Amino acid sequence: MPGSTGEPERTAIGLYLSGSNLSEFANYLVSCYGMGLFILHNFFKAVSAKLCKKKKIDSYTSFCYVIAVLNKLFGLFSKDIGIDLGTANTLVYVRGKGIVINEPSIVAINNKTGTILAIGEEARKMVGRTPGYIVVVRPLVAGVVSDFEVTEQMLKYFIDKVHQESFSLLPRPRVVIGVPSGVTEVEKRAVEDAAYNAGAREVYLIEEPMAAAVGARLPVQEAAANVIIDIGGGSTEVAVISMGGVVASRSLRIAGNKFNEDIIRYLREERNLLIGEATAESVKIRLGSAYPLGEELSGEIRGRDLVTGLPREIVITSEEIRRAISRSVRSILTEIKATIEETPPELIADLLSRSVYLSGGGSLLRGMDEIISHEIKLPVKIVDDPLTSVARGCGFVLEHIDKLKEVLLVTSKEAYL
Ligand code: ADP
Ligand code: MG
Repeated sequence: MPGSTGEPERTAIGLYLSGSNLSEFANYLVSCYGMGLFILHNFFKAVSAKLCKKKKIDSYTSFCYVIAVLNKLFGLFSKDIGIDLGTANTLVYVRGKGIVINEPSIVAINNKTGTILAIGEEARKMVGRTPGYIVVVRPLVAGVVSDFEVTEQMLKYFIDKVHQESFSLLPRPRVVIGVPSGVTEVEKRAVEDAAYNAGAREVYLIEEPMAAAVGARLPVQEAAANVIIDIGGGSTEVAVISMGGVVASRSLRIAGNKFNEDIIRYLREERNLLIGEATAESVKIRLGSAYPLGEELSGEIRGRDLVTGLPREIVITSEEIRRAISRSVRSILTEIKATIEETPPELIADLLSRSVYLSGGGSLLRGMDEIISHEIKLPVKIVDDPLTSVARGCGFVLEHIDKLKEVLLVTSKEAYL
């Protein structure tokens, strides 16, 4: 008898509380879960058969009914989440909690075995440092899913991570996901399917500029023009929003990543220095600007000398970086002007009394607001915390879905109804 030997009783709870054998306790839980599922399965089979008889409905309808109930049941233990599936960063907002995940949209894959080695921050650390058989991929290009399976795995990883500390062995969350404005039906479907396959029970899509505007608490449902420019990693989105819908929008594949490429090219061609992507990113943040600075900056930068092949350090100025990215900045300005030109005249008039808002990481480039304001002759403001506005917007919509349903895109499920 355990009691008589003075040993504590070896019940699962006892083991758990004593902390002596966690894995045994986990096994106990898993077998309980398995048994629970078995009982549930038989229970629902019986309910489904009863339904068929009583309501005189066919077995398929009763099966759907039972699945819906199961879905609701799992949903009870799942969290509602908003996801900003950005080209550069993926952010996850959990209802009632705020942003809980903010990681790069990067996945490291072992090409020999086809297995995923790391996702997010872990994978970012591997960029440029992997042997040939490990590839580090960004599954989204210009905000659009370019690698379906990897996007799905990445979403599943983030959804599971959010539910790690909660009582949910099979997370079935309701999710609101931001997609670039003007995506095709096929592209929309790809994001939706990836989210369903990753375990979501309901998927809602929202255009990213709309989410950014909601995140910045702009009055998107008023009958007045709200202009929002979201400069991300892979794309810049310009949108004019009124009465809960996008009235005019344009999207171009020039944004933060292109600025990095411009800097790499400039240094290679003009200064004979080869640098990698991470160095270009840090130079852009340290010295980059879109508009002349009151006091120009300068700093050292290290790379490989293209003449000698050896490491070299040079000094570079903010003026040079500005020159390097000037063509890309100009393309963004042209697109902004074109979108404003497409805006209906009644709404154009509103713009004189309102600001144009900037969001996304690219808006943090020094002088971006000034050069845009100089070009379009309208006041320009950067939203608070521009890197998180889309995720915060997705979260706000989730929390007020009844009032804000009109700002969502029609999903494939609704389209078939
Ligand atoms: P996405 O929505 O595509 O994931 P983000 O809105 O997260 O993009 O913005 C990421 C981009 O913002 C990157 O290209 C990054 O280089 C750029 N970025 C972030 N901070 C700064 C900064 N301080 N100055 C200039 N660019 C920045
Ligand atoms: Mg974004």
